[in-house]
Amino acid sequence: MMTVLRRLAFLIVALTLVLSATAADKIQVVASFSILGDLVSVVGGDRVEIHNLVGPDQDAHVFEPRPADIQTFARAKLVVLNGLGFEGWISRLTETASYKGATVVASHGIKFRQMEDEDHPGRRTNDPHAWQDPRNVIDYVRNIATALGEIDPVNAPTYQENSRHYIDALQQLDAWIVDQYARIPETKRKLITSHDAFGYHSARYGIQFIAPQGVSTESEPSAKEISRLIRQIKQEKIKALFMENMSNSRLLEQLAKDADVTPAGKLYADALSTADGPAPNYLKMMRYNVDQILLGLKRN
Ligand code: ZN
Repeated sequence: MMTVLRRLAFLIVALTLVLSATAADKIQVVASFSILGDLVSVVGGDRVEIHNLVGPDQDAHVFEPRPADIQTFARAKLVVLNGLGFEGWISRLTETASYKGATVVASHGIKFRQMEDEDHPGRRTNDPHAWQDPRNVIDYVRNIATALGEIDPVNAPTYQENSRHYIDALQQLDAWIVDQYARIPETKRKLITSHDAFGYHSARYGIQFIAPQGVSTESEPSAKEISRLIRQIKQEKIKALFMENMSNSRLLEQLAKDADVTPAGKLYADALSTADGPAPNYLKMMRYNVDQILLGLKRN
């Protein structure tokens, strides 16, 4: 009897060791925000463990790192960033954490957009929201697969394979979106959101997004700009007005009231929803947004 128990105990210890070795074996990846974290998990599968700095429904523009965020860099082998000025806080964070591992800028190589800098008239600023066009996300995924393959060459073929499957899904998504918007007359393709997060979406699909705030949620529109926007909403009878999941809704609620428009819903701009929400991953987020936009545009 004793022997059996001892054997069983040995087996449990051995099993625990094996399991913890597998967990420790995973490549620790820090992703700057939830959408990138999802892309890394698609490409890396169960080979990676992901730590998102800016979580679901959180605003990366105004992110303030906590001491716990510094600790996530201690075991990290790869940091995945969006780039294009989205993570203004990252270098201070990696310096404080003395991070020595690899970094990949997911947007590397894409054709990026520039906008007028609302806080510095006359100056141009990069628009970081490239993920709102799925064709850019194809490049994101390729960059992530390459970076993971360099860290873990043995599994590089798996990362390439995973990304190929996902790229198929992204191409299908893009075609589906084109198809959906084709149902809306061109004169009705106008909507209001909080900040300029949909410039790439707009350029790809021909939907006009109008926002009181610029490419960062930090920018403050002047009273003059707000009253001009209210006039435009009334004159052009725009009924499609959307809140955003991660930014402060106060400004838009006031705007909706002043322009006498009932908000049409909420779009997922710079972050996913939590797992139990309608946008727990990138593909679902895009489909949810497009469904919402269609409903909103039909009110115009
Ligand atoms: Zn944004």
